[in-house]
Amino acid sequence: MGCIFCKIIKEKLPYSRVYEDEDFLAFMDIKPINKGHVLIVPKKHFELVSEMDKTDMSKMIVVAEKINSAIRKSEIRCKGINFFLADGKAAGQEVPHVHLHVIPRFLGDGFGFKFPDNYENKPPRKELERLAEKIKRKLD
Ligand code: AMP
Ligand code: ZN
Repeated sequence: MGCIFCKIIKEKLPYSRVYEDEDFLAFMDIKPINKGHVLIVPKKHFELVSEMDKTDMSKMIVVAEKINSAIRKSEIRCKGINFFLADGKAAGQEVPHVHLHVIPRFLGDGFGFKFPDNYENKPPRKELERLAEKIKRKLD
């Protein structure tokens, strides 16, 4: 298996551990957006969030909150935290093993999202309603 994160979990690559339990490992991102950038990965290989069971999904956000609180209490420069998860290549997922980024933020840190050109044009309510319907129809 060529998955980098599975190699880390199996201790076949160096990494800097922050947290570990039966189901998750958290370690420092090798190319941090800001100092203190942590990744949380399930120990089982799942490419997409939808492959995880719901209990694990919930546990992952609890681990994220533990790390969020720890970073905020630490000396690491942090005025806020972004949780970021790229679910699929088109969403920016480079490593095909689910991972939740925990990124310390502060004003002027240079990180941000790039919005599309038409972002400032609010769509009509009718369109929002239509899109909400499309999603609602597919909710389990
Ligand atoms: P994404 O673009 O959401 O798939 O993020 C992948 C993240 O994994 C990037 O932030 C990389 O810097 C990080 N990464 C890749 N290889 C390693 C590694 N060996 N150890 C720690 N982080 C890694
Ligand atoms: Zn993997």
